Amino acid sequence: MRQVVILGATGSIGCSTLSVLAMHPQQFKVLALTAATQVDKLLAQCLEFQPRFAAMLCPKAAAELKAALASHASATEVLAGPDALAELAAHPDADIVMAAIVGAAGLLPTLAAVEQGKTVLLANKEALVMSGELFMDKVQRHGATLLPIDSEHNAIFQCLPAAFQQAKQRPALSEMGIAKLLLTGSGGPFLSRDINTFATVTVAEAVAHPNWSMGQKISVDSATMMNKGLEFIEARWLFNCAPADIEVVIHPQSIIHSMVQYTDGSVLAQLGQPDMRTPIAHALAFPDRISSPVQPLDFSQLANFSFSKPEPERYPNLYLAIAACAAGQGATTALNAANEVAVAAFITEQIRFTDITRLNEKCLAHFLNYAARSLDDIVALDFEARAYAQQLVRTLN
Ligand code: NAD
Ligand code: MG
Repeated sequence: MRQVVILGATGSIGCSTLSVLAMHPQQFKVLALTAATQVDKLLAQCLEFQPRFAAMLCPKAAAELKAALASHASATEVLAGPDALAELAAHPDADIVMAAIVGAAGLLPTLAAVEQGKTVLLANKEALVMSGELFMDKVQRHGATLLPIDSEHNAIFQCLPAAFQQAKQRPALSEMGIAKLLLTGSGGPFLSRDINTFATVTVAEAVAHPNWSMGQKISVDSATMMNKGLEFIEARWLFNCAPADIEVVIHPQSIIHSMVQYTDGSVLAQLGQPDMRTPIAHALAFPDRISSPVQPLDFSQLANFSFSKPEPERYPNLYLAIAACAAGQGATTALNAANEVAVAAFITEQIRFTDITRLNEKCLAHFLNYAARSLDDIVALDFEARAYAQQLVRTLN
């Protein structure tokens, strides 16, 4: 029986994880569930899965949860605050930690799990975007097992040789006969929308992804394709490769989840429904396989697959992220911070859709050559870049 901690249990990935775990009560037990503020949702999850611990970022929400659980005579112990999340991620009884907090807030609790050598299922891509080099060093130093949940990275992982998947120290891709990683993306909801109308994109239009159902932030990132940019940086670190080894391919059907091209001309792809419960089930059971609630693919219903290159004019944010990746960890930390501020400002209708790009561009130009090596540097730069971006939000108004 493996014990699981879910950071970000009430989110889209958190709920999908619980739906896979619910199918396998003999193999997994929920040790702890955490969330930021949503008391009702976490309460329902606690009553269903009866974890030993629950934690909420917000102390007031934690107090409400505690009272509600007490009224149900629940034995779940409630903790509060950011330190409690890190404490549970590092709990001695935890075998698997699902890192599914959205944004930079996921960094410290995810690192706490890594430092205890846990099996870390990484959905929180922003952690790796901010601290890729330092994060991967810690994974190696503490003997943690890192398994990608992001569907593209999970697909690439599945297409890599077993020797790479199980290596303690990840080898260079070229040593494994690999020529390139092909990172696919649907192109989001605005693949064929007239670029001249982007300034009037509404929040509802931006979050309406054609294939995937996800949290708000990642949905907006998919519309700008910053999501693919963050994934480009994520792939660079996860798979120990150079930016030149990664190519982004638009595949609007979202059935191929990414591919690996070998030097002999072979291309291996992982296919499936656009449903995160497949990569989650894969990583929970790795190196074995377990069932998931996902419907099998029916090839008679798949009319066609198409592919294209992402247009720079349509997806400038993708290219900002690729530039940041080449510049280094300071640039990627600052761009990630700027983008979180910009997306939050767009969702709350303080800025237009096209202002997300303007803000990210200005912030990246400002911080492009900043160095951020230690965790303290990264946290300080994240703070500084957020303040800079907030200032830009005010001046754009
Ligand atoms: P979401 O917004 O649906 O859920 C976020 C979760 O994080 C919630 O449980 C929330 O309570 C918690 N949270 C938010 N802010 C927090 C904070 N400051 N401190 C502690 N907890 C906090 O997000 P999601 O779509 O589930 O995405 C989670 C992560 O997984 C993101 O990094 C995203 O990029 C990545 N991801 C998501 C998908 C998807 O299909 N949803 C796919 C690939 C990768
Ligand atoms: Mg993805």
